[in-house]
Parts: sequence; structure tokens; C-alpha cells
Amino acid sequence: MSPSTMPPGGRPVALHARGARVRDEQGREFIDGSSGAVCVNLGHGVPEVLEAMRSQAERITFVHRSQFAHSAVADLSNEILSIAGPDYREVVYTNSGSEATETALRLALHHHADGPGDRSVVLTQRPSYHGMTAGALGVSGHPSRRAGLEALHDGTIVSVPVTATDPDRPLPDLADWKEAFARVGPARVAAVLVEPIGGAASGAQEIPPEVMRGLRALCDEAGALLVVDEVMTGFGRSGAWFAHLDSDTRPDLVITGKGLSGGYTPIGACLVGARVLPGRSATELAFGHTMSGNPLSAATALAVLRYTREHRLPERARRVGAELRKRLSAIAARYAFLDEPRGRGMLLALPVRQDAADYGVEPLNRRICSAAEAAGLLLYPSGIDRAAQSVLVTPPLTVDDSELDDLFTRLRSALDMVERADSEADR
Ligand code: PMP
Repeated sequence: MSPSTMPPGGRPVALHARGARVRDEQGREFIDGSSGAVCVNLGHGVPEVLEAMRSQAERITFVHRSQFAHSAVADLSNEILSIAGPDYREVVYTNSGSEATETALRLALHHHADGPGDRSVVLTQRPSYHGMTAGALGVSGHPSRRAGLEALHDGTIVSVPVTATDPDRPLPDLADWKEAFARVGPARVAAVLVEPIGGAASGAQEIPPEVMRGLRALCDEAGALLVVDEVMTGFGRSGAWFAHLDSDTRPDLVITGKGLSGGYTPIGACLVGARVLPGRSATELAFGHTMSGNPLSAATALAVLRYTREHRLPERARRVGAELRKRLSAIAARYAFLDEPRGRGMLLALPVRQDAADYGVEPLNRRICSAAEAAGLLLYPSGIDRAAQSVLVTPPLTVDDSELDDLFTRLRSALDMVERADSEADR
């Protein structure tokens, strides 16, 4: 390929993918150890999904929701609501996780609009990531993605990041949240927004169940909404349909994306709790985008969720995730620069030891990902700072034994490469 036709960043040109294997134009094969950006939960090229897409595309790809209803959209909402249970009453569609965050923020503000006083504060965690659009980025505790964009999001919403007071703790605990409520004034808090298990920002750090339950209680006392971002964790990745189920907490709004379509089409959704905006249509209030809830994306997501249910992928993620974690733990023990894996289900991270997390020319987690790519393995770097620096290991929930064996062989050679380069640099 001549330099003028090189894609930006010199990326390989993808040609074909099946299961957890992606091939490029040069014939090189990569194991998709990250499910793209942690979204290809079913693996690539699942025939049932491709058939649903083809069959829907032949009938109709687009009608606008202001002019027509469509059975694929209605069926998808029924499927999502039957997964979510009786605490949820409506699904508002978007084209991405970021837009689903925006929707949740708008609905939270609408919910409080007729109440007394000014409820415009959203408490969020640092580290966290909720999307790249102005509002979503404005509430994200991800400094490098916000850098230089302050003018875009400051003033869109009052976001108060809640940070752990103890520098050795990666995430705020209940005392930190209580302190934030007291500092801001409970009557000003519109919502608390959290990822139950972090992704890009924290590298699979989990909010403990007692903190999730404590947040629910704090929100109830303050009359604030609890909003949970399940864009990365939702629809099976965490080893359950939703990660918040593990703490037996029912959020008021649930933000989804990624796994909802397994990467087969752009779609996101915000699930609306029964107590939010009672008697009003959240879909109408949230308004939405031209393509929100288009029939082709809805039929695709419906096929993905049916496949997820029929193949019991949440349970599979729990079982295979436990195995994966054991094998990652054995790997971590062999390299001085790695810590014990963390995360839940198949949202796992290999943390870089804090004393090894260098920020020289290239942070160590990025060097690991580059070495992995050279060895034919795709991984995703994560963590906003030294305490969170890590590499996500998140293959498709359908990954089979031979794909896993290849993943680990290539991971070992990538880590050997990094170790060798470091010991040569020390000489
Ligand atoms: N929330 C979380 C937790 C995410 O991981 C992401 C994407 N990485 C988003 C929101 C934004 O989703 P999207 O990229 O689809 O806009």
C-alpha cells in the first residue's frame, strides 16, 4: 500500500471476520480479544443475525417514527422490557451509547422540571466514561478525552465528579458519595450516574454491591434518580443480562448501546423506569434523532437479543469468564509488570502494576496492545491514570476453545516482547 492510500494511523485494512477471528487485506489473522470496542458480543458473522438483516433490508430499511410504527421496533421494545422486568415501562432509542447518555440526562432534567427548586446537578464518578457528545463527555471523569473541549461541555450540565478520598482506592466509596450529596445539597441533585463496572476509564473496576445499594438509598432519600450506564456491561457481558442485577438494585434509567446490537448496527437505548415521568411518553419528551428506532437497526438488535437469549450467553459469559480469569491470573503471575486480573463475567482487565505504569513515550498498557497487535491479537487499552492503567481482555461471549488457546499463545508472545524490550532498555 502506498503511503498516500494508507488509512489514518496506518491501521490494517480489515477484509473479513468470523467468530473471534478478523483477517486483513494482507491475509494476516487477528484474534479479536477486545470484541472491537467491547461490543461484538456474539462474534462476527453470525448467520442468524445476517439473515435477519437481509430479510429486513429487503422489506423496508427506514420509516420515520413520526409517520409510522414498525413491528421490529415494537418487538424489540417488548424483548428489552421482558429482559429488564416490570420495573421498566418504556425504551427510548438512539444511535449510540453517547446519545443514550444524553437521553438519560434530558429525561432526568425533565423528570424534575415541575418539582420545587433547581435540580440540575448530576453526580458522577471519577474515573468514568459516558460518551463523546457534549453532555455525555461533560459528565465523564475522563480527563484525556475532555482535554481542550471544556468550552463544549462546560455549562451544558452541572456535573460534580466524586473521587475517592483515599488515593489507594480507585473508586469513591459510600462515604465519598454521602459527602458529595451533603456538599452539593441533596435537593439540588437531579441524578447519580455510574458505570457498575468501568471500561475505558477505569479498566474493569467494579462498584461493590453494598455501594450500589447505598447509592440507591441515597438517591431515594434525596429524591434524585439513579442512572446506570450499562453501555459496555449490558446484555450479557458482565455475566448477567445487566450488571446492576448482581447488587439487586433497580436504577431509574438504564443506558445501553454496544452489546444491544453486538456491533451489527449502530443503536443505543435508554430504559425508563416505571417511576420516571409517570403518565408521560419518554420517547416524545426525549425527542431523538432522525435514525432513532429505524426498522433495520431494530430488526438487527432483535436478532442479536434473541440469539443471546437462546444461546444463554449471559450464563456462558459467567462460566467462560471464570475460566478466562484463571488463565489471566496465571499469566499475570509470570510478568513482574502485571497485577491480578479484575472485572466480572467477560469484562476483564489485566492491570499494569502501579510502579510499572510508566508514562514515557508510550504508556505500558499501550505498548502491550501494540505488541499484541503485532502478534495477531486485538486488545483494548484502558485506565485514565496510574492507578487504573490496564488492558481490557474482552473476547466475544461466544469465543471457542481454539480461539481462546490462540488468544493466550499470542498474549504470551506479546508480553514476552514487552518484557524483552524493557530488559534491553535497562541494559
Ligand atoms: N458509556 C460507556 C460505559 C462506554 O463504554 C461507551 C463507549 N465506550 C459509551 C458510553 C459511549 O458509547 P458510544 O461510543 O456508542 O457512543
